[in-house]
Amino acid sequence: MTFEKVIRGKLILENEMVMGEVGIYNGKIEEISRETGSLKYEELLDFGEQYVFPGFIDAHVHCFSNPNEGFLSTSRAAAAGGITTFVDMPYDVPDPITNTERFMEKAKRVEKDSLVDAGFWATITKTGGTDQIKPLADAGAIAFKLSTIEADPYRFPRIPDFEILKAMKLVKETGLSIGFHAENEEIIANLIKEYTEGNKIYPRAHMETRPPISETSAVLKLLEFAYWTEVKLHIVHVSHPRTIELIEMFKKQGVNVTSETCYPYLLLNVNALDQFGPKAKNNPPLRTEEDVKGLWDHLLHEKIDLITSDHVAWGQEHKKISENHIFKSSAGLSGLEIMVPLLFDHMVVKEGISPLKLAKFLSQYPAEVFQIPNKGKIAIGNDADFTVIDPAASWVIDEAKLRTNAKLTPFHGTQVQGKIAQTIVRGTTVYDGEHIKVEPGYGKLVRGAAYKRG
Ligand SMILES: [Zn+2]
Repeated sequence: MTFEKVIRGKLILENEMVMGEVGIYNGKIEEISRETGSLKYEELLDFGEQYVFPGFIDAHVHCFSNPNEGFLSTSRAAAAGGITTFVDMPYDVPDPITNTERFMEKAKRVEKDSLVDAGFWATITKTGGTDQIKPLADAGAIAFKLSTIEADPYRFPRIPDFEILKAMKLVKETGLSIGFHAENEEIIANLIKEYTEGNKIYPRAHMETRPPISETSAVLKLLEFAYWTEVKLHIVHVSHPRTIELIEMFKKQGVNVTSETCYPYLLLNVNALDQFGPKAKNNPPLRTEEDVKGLWDHLLHEKIDLITSDHVAWGQEHKKISENHIFKSSAGLSGLEIMVPLLFDHMVVKEGISPLKLAKFLSQYPAEVFQIPNKGKIAIGNDADFTVIDPAASWVIDEAKLRTNAKLTPFHGTQVQGKIAQTIVRGTTVYDGEHIKVEPGYGKLVRGAAYKRG
């Protein structure tokens, strides 16, 4: 047969890298050839020595925490950053995604604005909202996200234990995962109070008031809850290796648990807080150099399942850099646009880690953990989603040029080896290395595994 499009290059398949070709028809992968020149085509995209990865998935993005942000600017950053699918968190301003009406409204915004594919996390109200879990799963939520610490009493509440237990039992019935922001509210709130009263408001105080035990003690409780409810538990943004060690202990007892870390925990340590102040403030905080080494060790042994950005579009108005008061600054970093190049540069170029590993953490495992259909691998029948990286190109990160409202990053000025040469979603080039090539609304809603039509 003659394919609509053939993509040629160094293909990163599940277990091998081959110089080959992929035949695309109707947005799907129809053929994989382990040689070049064998497939017939109407159009050829020849990437030569460049890497053709399966489309990367960022499973942790906060588009609407900043109400000035939207799917157009977020997905522009995703496309330019080599992300073909992102999964958006539910803590939207003004209203979190706690019912199907809001879920449907948000779905319309993908169809109107997004340049790449997107799915949604859903959540519940602080109390009394668990009856929405099944309808939200039926509507197509990818997973549920809850928190053990309060960032905002309405939008991002701390869910009491009794409601967590109820939620876990109901999410278990849907077959989806329940993800947690796991930090210990009692420890952190009291430490921040002490520090603020003592006028200890310097940048590193952010880490000192969120010590490792504030993460591990919260995770420990959730692991025990998951033991009794048998739900699929997912711990988001793990910052400390001890968390992974606890997860491993519970895995041995049969607990179904997965985890993720985010690119800042791998590429920065707490010294970045001293150096960059609020620009390097995220929750949980950056840890010591030793802890970062521990995280890498767990990651490379695949005890951590995936890497995400935890992208949030905070600008100057939220980061309040000039105030010199670390507790007044919003927590979170931008990442959609720079995560993939930074990880490629660090892992593949500098550390000589196989690009196959990168594909697992950024595509295959996110798709598997969250049961995202037809994505995650270059495989016949899957969506023709690809991230093409030119390993020879070198560039410098300029925060002023970032495509979202988050025009701040501690990686400003960093030289990066490896550049996104093209981002392809369902067979169509959405970003060609310089420009966005599709209209807003090209992106489609990706529905979760429990979706029921109609
Ligand atoms: Zn987050």
